[in-house]
Amino acid sequence: MIDRARVEGLLAVERDRFAERNPRSWAAFAAADHLFGRVPMTWMAKSAGGFPLYLDGASGARVTDLDGHELVDFCLGDTGAMAGHSPEPTVAAVAHRLGAAGGATVMLPTEDAEVVAAELTRRFGVSRWSFALSATDANRWALRLSRALTGRPRVLVHSWCYHGSVDEAFIVATPDGARTRPGCAGGPGDVTGTSRVAEYNDRAGLEAELAHGDVAAVLMEPALTNIGIVLPEPGYLDGVRELTRAVGALLVIDETHTISAGPGGCTKAWGLDPDIVTLGKAIGGGIPAGAFGLSADLAGRLTAFAEHDLIDAGGVGGTLAGNALSLAAMRATLSEVLTDEAFGPMIALADRYTAGVQAVIDRFGLPWSVTQLGARSEYSFLRPASRSGGDAARAVDPLLEDYLHLFLVNRGVLLTPFHNMALMCPATTEADVDVHLTVFDEAVQRLVGPAAGGREGG
Ligand code: PMP
Repeated sequence: MIDRARVEGLLAVERDRFAERNPRSWAAFAAADHLFGRVPMTWMAKSAGGFPLYLDGASGARVTDLDGHELVDFCLGDTGAMAGHSPEPTVAAVAHRLGAAGGATVMLPTEDAEVVAAELTRRFGVSRWSFALSATDANRWALRLSRALTGRPRVLVHSWCYHGSVDEAFIVATPDGARTRPGCAGGPGDVTGTSRVAEYNDRAGLEAELAHGDVAAVLMEPALTNIGIVLPEPGYLDGVRELTRAVGALLVIDETHTISAGPGGCTKAWGLDPDIVTLGKAIGGGIPAGAFGLSADLAGRLTAFAEHDLIDAGGVGGTLAGNALSLAAMRATLSEVLTDEAFGPMIALADRYTAGVQAVIDRFGLPWSVTQLGARSEYSFLRPASRSGGDAARAVDPLLEDYLHLFLVNRGVLLTPFHNMALMCPATTEADVDVHLTVFDEAVQRLVGPAAGGREGG
């Protein structure tokens, strides 16, 4: 029902508007001759407008760009700023550690670490924690330890998952069998040699892959969040746990994004029983931080392996991992910002956002859907909502996405690039949600023409 030529025309109008509105961001980008791809990290080149907005400052749920526009931020650093930008308790703790107390990286533990680990245990159940600087590293180390524990070589992931730049996770299921994920640059070789893959929500497929008996761990998000949100069907997660136990594979749950479901992520909200939990992004309140937690039993078994050099060059670790600054940030963020009490209002805002988007979809009769996971909501160009990564990947529509993202950004609303995702933080307000709904409604109206009947709500 959506005319492609019309989308292209509308996108061209929005691109011109973006260029006109953002001369200083453009000039900074054009002058960045010494950056690879003109950006600090190559993924920042992803911009519906052809160049990125440059940051001037950010506070709470607001970002100000170099040209002085204030944007309502639903991207929130793709979850890295789920606590809101520069939350006061985190800023104070970081300033104290770096300033008055002194010592960001000294190769010595601080008392903050045990406090953070105890809090993560309360939330996620597993009780022996280590720290990293990113969720990617937390996942890498969780996988190494899983292979060490089981003596098995392979990792199993869900098709179209994303767990950071973890080599073993770049595998997809196709009708012709498993393949290295397209676009994977300079990987160590054919990922089908290190990994197995199943479609999410496909119990029989998972069972068949696990039956080979060579899987050390299933690494998974409890709901997929990186190819749109794909929720588990009733019984699927119980099935994963049963099947992994039956074959002696470990279950590693990556809660980096799904912490949106509540203070203890889906693990707590849905009563899951993982062997290992990995996390990153949000827990540092904006300061680089990651963590992985093992059950006490696994931790005991690992410590007993004399042949594994976990203290020196055993393949797990990083000089700055567990540094005092990250731990100070995590302690403040978890105990004073992303508290148990903070989640209720954030989830209520996501309810409002989801209902408003659904109302627009219904009013215009669009073949789209909107899916929510706690404080996170995402629309996709498929109805009913996807039940697997493969379904979700087929619904990706870069042209439509670019148009919507750019239309929104040109009117002061920031969504997450690579997603149509909106995340609520403790500073987000109902008015912020309603700004998005008004602009989204207008964007859709231009796309498909006036809807039957008047505008309801939002
Ligand atoms: N796990 C999940 C579920 C993620 O979505 C991501 C990044 N989007 C990561 C891990 C990796 O996080 P980072 O890039 O901060 O290492």
